[in-house]
Amino acid sequence: DRSHTWAKVDRYLERKLLVHDATLEDALYANEVAGLPNYDVSPLQGKLLHLLIRMSGAKRILEIGTLGGYSAIWIARALPENGHLTTLELDARHAEVARNNLRHAGVPDEQVQIRVGDARVHLAQLEEEGAEAFDFIFIDADKPSNPAYLEAALRLSKPGTVILADNVVRNGEVIEETSADARVQGIREFFERLEGDGRIQSTALQTVGVKGYDGFMIGIVC
Ligand code: SAM
Repeated sequence: DRSHTWAKVDRYLERKLLVHDATLEDALYANEVAGLPNYDVSPLQGKLLHLLIRMSGAKRILEIGTLGGYSAIWIARALPENGHLTTLELDARHAEVARNNLRHAGVPDEQVQIRVGDARVHLAQLEEEGAEAFDFIFIDADKPSNPAYLEAALRLSKPGTVILADNVVRNGEVIEETSADARVQGIREFFERLEGDGRIQSTALQTVGVKGYDGFMIGIVC
């Protein structure tokens, strides 16, 4: 069973490359106790986010889809002192768990703003407020809304902004033209918009590991 091997290799790589961090594990445990779904990024993916933020020198980060704040902790730990994360979450209970997890991880309250409610509404509000462009945008919420999130992300960007979207392969189902799954259709529409879009240069990678077979898209705004 390949998925068993992928998970074992992930655990091996985690042991070799990740420094043991009790607060990240505590966050996953707190999520489980609170009954949140385990849709968090994997530890290795969390570190990839963290490294990409450091490599790009991003200061202003936007995350769409907070869940229990697991990825938010990885992101916050990559921020410079004057950096800031805005993270959007529909479910007030998820947001509450995230707030506690971020505090427990020692992330200063003023470094992270969790905006509770439909991300589409908050994205429109951010635009209305004339929010300064973000340096790095992580799209990881409801997949049927990915086309709308891409458009909003592009509007909240400037040249050089990095946009990353998770779960864009969905066990290979992304190639199923007639899929009845709204998430798959959301991702397909997302790629149709990226196709030939002059505003962003992007690529996508298929991934395997503890989270199964999936993939992410990463691009840079022109
Ligand atoms: N980024 C998180 C992590 O890696 O720890 C995982 C996010 S999880 C895949 C997706 C989250 O998006 C869920 O917590 C869900 O409640 C939230 N969500 C779903 N629909 C949403 C919407 N319309 N607006 C904002 N958040 C939404």
